[in-house]
Amino acid sequence: MKFNPVIEHLKTYEPGKPIELVVREFGIDPSDIVKLASNENPFGCSPKAIESVKDAAHLMYRYPDDTMMALKEGLCDRFGILGEQLIIGAGSDQVIEFACHAKLYGGAKILQNEITFAMYQIYAAQCGASVIKSPGMLHDLDSMYELYLEHEPEIIFICAPNNPTGDCLDAVDIENFIERIDNNTLVIVDGAYQEYAAYKESKKRIDPAALVEKFDNVLYLGTFSKAYGLGGMRVGYGISSKEIIRALYKLRPPFNVTTLSLVAARAALEDDAFVQMTLKECFEQMKRFEDFARGHGIGVIESYTNFITYLLKGITDSTVLSDALLRQGIIVRDLKGYGLNAIRITIGRAEENDRFFSAVDNLLENGAQ
Ligand SMILES: *Cc1c(COP(=O)(O)O)cnc(C)c1O
Repeated sequence: MKFNPVIEHLKTYEPGKPIELVVREFGIDPSDIVKLASNENPFGCSPKAIESVKDAAHLMYRYPDDTMMALKEGLCDRFGILGEQLIIGAGSDQVIEFACHAKLYGGAKILQNEITFAMYQIYAAQCGASVIKSPGMLHDLDSMYELYLEHEPEIIFICAPNNPTGDCLDAVDIENFIERIDNNTLVIVDGAYQEYAAYKESKKRIDPAALVEKFDNVLYLGTFSKAYGLGGMRVGYGISSKEIIRALYKLRPPFNVTTLSLVAARAALEDDAFVQMTLKECFEQMKRFEDFARGHGIGVIESYTNFITYLLKGITDSTVLSDALLRQGIIVRDLKGYGLNAIRITIGRAEENDRFFSAVDNLLENGAQ
């Protein structure tokens, strides 16, 4: 069959290996599997979110409230924005997809960092657009600006903090960068890990309301999949100017977020205590990952997220190490596909991290190379 030529060249996104696959492939008991691969919340989600889903379960025969009123009100209150400045998607992924379709076409361009969230270029490629990458592991805004002048992209992606490296630009540097970008270029600021960054260091904190107040060409993205622990519910959002939100709405399929997802997100948003516990534990455990790396000559990038990236240098090969860990039921993310000899590890609960440390200790001692 002949397909749209654009999709012939597309690669399928490779998500972190699901637990079910490791159970089947290696015959490991599901309770023995430690999944540190997808930046999920190791503490699960707010018990209030679970309660709200149970309470709403009898409503699943009805279509969802397509105005998404309750969750919209919650997010508007949280951020100090108007309903017209907000769109809710099935994950912030879906909002990225809307934005790409709103701006891109065959021959269009996006600009992104060389190493960043893989979905940007996948959605861009689906629209027939090409991808300009500013080189280097970390965002270099000066080189991005040079490339912007040279290529005049339709969209610029800034991931703050960045996945899969964990580093984060300062909010003021992002603002100063956007200041120099023309109004017709959409700047997407992906704040999937902003809760973590803001907790760790105030100068990393982005205020979406202030940002979209100042610039009418910015789309800020947030998600319930990370700090709120609702990855399985698929809820994310975009905050932007009324004009941009209107355009994105034209691309939104009706009922794109389910009833149970909407109620779970609304309840999770209210449970600040759960999120605060998550953030505190994350950075306490992060210290152990930093110490472990130091003790083994492994390089780290300072992380403002719920994961840490280990730069393995000459110590071992990232694919060999992650495969060996997988056989023991420990799932991490090999970054070889990004051209890095590195692994990305989601910060787990203390006992999960213990498993990771002792397994890596053993593997390195016995020469996992
Ligand atoms: C996880 C993630 C997202 C979106 O996740 P959804 O589950 O689709 O909301 C977006 N950007 C980055 C950088 C992420 O890591």
